[in-house]
Amino acid sequence: MRNKEKQSPIHKILAKDSDSLKLLSNIKKLTVEDVIVLYAYAEAIVETVREPLIILDSDLHVKTANKAFFDDFKVNKKETYNKSIFKIGNGQWNIPKLKKLLKNILPKDSVFNDFEVTHTFNKIGTRTMVLNARRIVLEGHKTELILLAIEDITERKEFENKLRESEQHYRLIVEQVKEHIIYTMDRQGCITDWNKAAEHITGYKRREVIGKFHGFLYTPEDRENNIPIKEMQIAEKKGKSMNERWHMGKDKTYFWGSGTVTPLRRDDGNLQGFTKIMRDITTRKEQDRRKDEFLSMASHELKTPVTTIKAYAQILARQLKKDGDVKKKYYINKIENQTNKLNALIEDFLNVSKIEAGKLIFNRTEFDLGELVNKIVLDFQHMTDTHTIKKIGKSKLFVFGDEDRIGQVLINLLSNAVKYSPKGEKIIVRSRKNKDSVTVSVEDSGQGIPKSKQESIFEKYYQVTEKGEEGKKGFGLGLFITREIIKRHKGAIRVESEEGKGSTFSFTLPLAHNKG
Ligand code: ADP
Repeated sequence: MRNKEKQSPIHKILAKDSDSLKLLSNIKKLTVEDVIVLYAYAEAIVETVREPLIILDSDLHVKTANKAFFDDFKVNKKETYNKSIFKIGNGQWNIPKLKKLLKNILPKDSVFNDFEVTHTFNKIGTRTMVLNARRIVLEGHKTELILLAIEDITERKEFENKLRESEQHYRLIVEQVKEHIIYTMDRQGCITDWNKAAEHITGYKRREVIGKFHGFLYTPEDRENNIPIKEMQIAEKKGKSMNERWHMGKDKTYFWGSGTVTPLRRDDGNLQGFTKIMRDITTRKEQDRRKDEFLSMASHELKTPVTTIKAYAQILARQLKKDGDVKKKYYINKIENQTNKLNALIEDFLNVSKIEAGKLIFNRTEFDLGELVNKIVLDFQHMTDTHTIKKIGKSKLFVFGDEDRIGQVLINLLSNAVKYSPKGEKIIVRSRKNKDSVTVSVEDSGQGIPKSKQESIFEKYYQVTEKGEEGKKGFGLGLFITREIIKRHKGAIRVESEEGKGSTFSFTLPLAHNKG
């Protein structure tokens, strides 16, 4: 918003030279010398002002003009001084509106502020100007002065128009977006803008939500857990916060929203607010659910035949061993190995379905994690002749949890360490007691994982693949299941890795005395 008083050049002049103002108002009778002195005074002040400024006498003849005036309007002193303002520069100031102001309004009101006029000048083309004038009457004397300040706002106007256009353009784009809820918030998370798609998808009209905290879009549980605020905090800290979760429309139906919160910053970097862009992907979520359901059903159906094949293969293997048929025993061992792999895969699929359905059950007891690590490392070493597994750490690390599932975590990490260090190096398993927790880590010297992929490897079906080796090594489920098991035990898992040098996966679980 423009501050009129502050911006008026006349105001600036008078503020700068309050003495001359006092002088003007106090003097009753002026001599010719006085007037000359006063003009000189005025001229000196006028020169210091950057905006074009002219001083007119009561006949509207130019007494003085500053350098800015001559420069901006491409006129010189000779053709300006003592000429009627309406005649100077080939009559370029003969603007009807200005004439009316100077001749009619000014004598009555003695001041006009911020009069905007657009006019085409001979030499400088079409300009938009803001005019400010002030009549200074010298009491008891006929002489009067008119200060006319001219501010050329053409560029500013153009800039404002462009800004308006680009705002309209932006608004049009935002409004035309049909599938994305787009809203902006202030720093507290209160809505400041709300697009048409948001109205359509959520059922809330713009006028209902402006000024409201955006929490109403979230489920009661998420609101209780402060998720709307947490998303903003993460966005502020990290530059954005991406999330998929259930949201709630006006009619209380849920929709699955995939959204990103981004901080809005001013030029100086200060936080102004946030934007949230969100897509309703309920349909995709539903398709995923059906896919998961199918996978779960198919895995169940596969489980019985595979178990049967495995059982018969074992019977056959024993028979062939008794018969001493080495060649056939070799084949049957191959069948057995492959059915074991198939079984593990089916187990993974079943576990994923259980995780998705929130039905992964844990049988928790207190057990010695150190002992479990010893046992699994020993068993694992028996099964691999390509890698040496070194165990460092003590036992008596009691935790409270599902021993089989935690064992599964360690087996997953060891299998990966073997799988992804094909040259067959050493694998080191460490277990360590912290103040309230236990940490177990598996270190390999294999191919490592690029930094950019280290977050993603814990996602479902995610694999770091190089060209030509797609689908060779697994299904990308192991780490997803592993992380879920650890999370459900109130623990954490992380990876440190350098490409070409190796990886260390560590998980931490609370010590048993912390279980309550
Ligand atoms: P899978 O091994 O079946 O592909 P995981 O979920 O166990 O699935 O692992 C996901 C991805 O993480 C793997 O495809 C691999 O690219 C990467 N990865 C896991 N462990 C390691 C490791 N120890 N070294 C290098 N890469 C690994």
